[in-house]
Amino acid sequence: MSAHLFYTGAVLDRAAHLRREESWFAERLRDGESRVLTVWRDNNLIHPGDEPRAAVLTGDAAREILDLAGHVVFLGLQDDTAVFAADLSQHEEDDIAPAVAPGAFSDLRKVGPIMERGQGMVLAYARGLMVWHNSQRFCSECGAPTESREAGHMHKCVSPGCGREHYPRTDPAVIMLVTRDGPDGGAALLGHKPNFPPGIYSVLAGFVDPGETLEEAVAREVMEEAGVAVTDVRYQGSQPWPFPSSLMMGFTARATTYDITFDREELEDAQWFTRADVARFAEMNRRLARTDSIARWLIETWLAKK
Ligand SMILES: [Zn+2]
Repeated sequence: MSAHLFYTGAVLDRAAHLRREESWFAERLRDGESRVLTVWRDNNLIHPGDEPRAAVLTGDAAREILDLAGHVVFLGLQDDTAVFAADLSQHEEDDIAPAVAPGAFSDLRKVGPIMERGQGMVLAYARGLMVWHNSQRFCSECGAPTESREAGHMHKCVSPGCGREHYPRTDPAVIMLVTRDGPDGGAALLGHKPNFPPGIYSVLAGFVDPGETLEEAVAREVMEEAGVAVTDVRYQGSQPWPFPSSLMMGFTARATTYDITFDREELEDAQWFTRADVARFAEMNRRLARTDSIARWLIETWLAKK
């Protein structure tokens, strides 16, 4: 079911067993057939246009980028060809523009919704890894510098007395469509957060606390943000959301109390909306969450169930 989500889909074999093959990694880096995706300060290199697509460099163009790169990561295999991500964040954009032309750097949050989904998945993966690389330059245990290992999938502390291994982090978050019984097929709880663009309504979400199950996180967040108690918490699907490093785990839940008391720090508004209410959103200058989000997918899935 979640195969329809943006930024998901196994379009690339991660080939994790090859990450420790250092000579293989070095050989593939020299191979003119290998493909290189470029990341610069949280932006991905794309071919812009009405249908933006990932800029995939090979041969001399790839060589030039690899020579300029601060980090290089092996993403995996596509059609048995190695795919790498190269990070150019240490350079100024004007200095690297000739090397990446005619591509342009763009925020995946802007172009993701209008890209082919498999391409969006690979770009999200590349971006997520590079965000981690640039934030993991020093050991969080002892403060010494770290070195990239395992084809860019691990950072090792260089201090002989420490040597701690650091792996890319993913922050688990729950996101939930809460429904209630009632006339017109019941209603869904949607809210507007202070940081949302005007008129946007979405499902509730929050990060999982240490020592908490996903189901407990769902119930806690809904109670904290809207004062509504829930039961029947059911997993629906997940979506990587590397903006910068979340994994969104989508749930449905059934309300057992219907009165909403929302936390004004978290929400500017929260209401029960029937499907008919949502159908009239445009008239009321309201809109649903962005099309590439699991939030939108949860809402659309509910709307389609009559
Ligand atoms: Zn250390």
